[in-house]
Amino acid sequence: MGGRAVAKTVLVINSGSSSIKYQLVDLESGEGLASGLVEKIDEPVKGIYTHKFNGDKHVFEDEIIENHEQGLKRVLAFFDEYGPNLKEYDLVAVGHRVVQGGSVFPTPALVTEENIAKVKELAVLAPLHNGPEAVGAEVMTRLLPDVPQGFVFDSSFFFQLPDASATYALNKEVADKYQIRRYGAHGTSHEFIGQVAPEVAGKPSEGLKQIVLHIGNGASVSAQISGKPVETSMGLTPLEGLMMGSRTGDIDPAAVFHLIRNAGMNVDELDTLFNKKSGLMGMTGHGDMREVLALRDGGDETAALAIDMYVHRIVGYIGNYAAQMGGLDVITFTAGVGENSDPIRAMVCEKLAPFGVKIDAEKNETRSSEPRVISTPDSSVTVCVIPTNEELAIAQKVAQLAVEGDAYGNKFNA
Ligand code: ADP
Repeated sequence: MGGRAVAKTVLVINSGSSSIKYQLVDLESGEGLASGLVEKIDEPVKGIYTHKFNGDKHVFEDEIIENHEQGLKRVLAFFDEYGPNLKEYDLVAVGHRVVQGGSVFPTPALVTEENIAKVKELAVLAPLHNGPEAVGAEVMTRLLPDVPQGFVFDSSFFFQLPDASATYALNKEVADKYQIRRYGAHGTSHEFIGQVAPEVAGKPSEGLKQIVLHIGNGASVSAQISGKPVETSMGLTPLEGLMMGSRTGDIDPAAVFHLIRNAGMNVDELDTLFNKKSGLMGMTGHGDMREVLALRDGGDETAALAIDMYVHRIVGYIGNYAAQMGGLDVITFTAGVGENSDPIRAMVCEKLAPFGVKIDAEKNETRSSEPRVISTPDSSVTVCVIPTNEELAIAQKVAQLAVEGDAYGNKFNA
């Protein structure tokens, strides 16, 4: 180890089908020390590598990236060449984010051959995600065989949902045979926020009824009592629930039958239509809330409608979940839109004014990356804005796996 007085670090990796995001997390400060992105893997164009460290940004667009192995090898080379040196920064583990752990992984797991195979099998439930995530882990264990590696599942937190929330009113035999239930997603973020919010709100966690709005490009809402999940809006896949950047959210499934019968669409076309060409993107041509707000402010009626729908859906879930919990103490906004968009926060809270929710306009409009309360002291519900930190949450979980092993009997190097 070099002379730097560093705490231990964890490299957190988020592999997609054509991209890989990574961040080196300092476990003690919780900060991201370095981060990067590999884009356009397995595409017939040159890929893009972006590596950031120490205020420097290195961008390369000099090769076709054929697969994840090629991309990740180059990422490790960037750490050697541009820093930080992973040995010097005491890398204790690598964490892999996985969308779907199904009923197989209610808690995080060490990356082993057997667990990689199980993550691949679960791709049936998350075809766009689990495959590339398993490949990312497979490649990294080959490249860094001496470092413990762990899977952290987006679905684990919601494994504790009550049956009445997790079960669909679908034919029981079919649902059981094909593992169709509500798994939820963004669980790592909902759990993280659920733990931080009581402190920010200045209320004890015990008995606290809270709603977490994770609204970014993907968007989901959870209801939690004493930090335990009782509801969430994403279901079998991340498609269900709120209106999103490019996903429909809730829609009558008969729209699918209708499009098969009348538009002759096949499964892949429908998947793309509902997941990638709908939501804000499908309505306005822009998936980024900033652009949709700008269009609305310029008088675009479709953008105005899209934003009304977006807020309408969020408020509907808040009402539903407050009723399910029999009360509500804290609402927290997080993720890209939740953390940054004061107009959306104001619109949501305005609709809740008849229930005594009051926000301080100045606090809402003040830009800050600090966790904070934006409601007035006499508001019936404490409204918070808290930046999520999924990377830190993943890093903490895999650091623990590295030392203690997982709940399935695996230990690193055992
Ligand atoms: P992901 O779901 O991809 O992790 P993020 O949580 O990073 O997404 O959120 C990204 C989204 O946040 C962007 O697509 C954009 O819509 C939204 N966003 C970011 N900054 C702002 C802002 N200042 N105002 C409104 N929306 C914003």
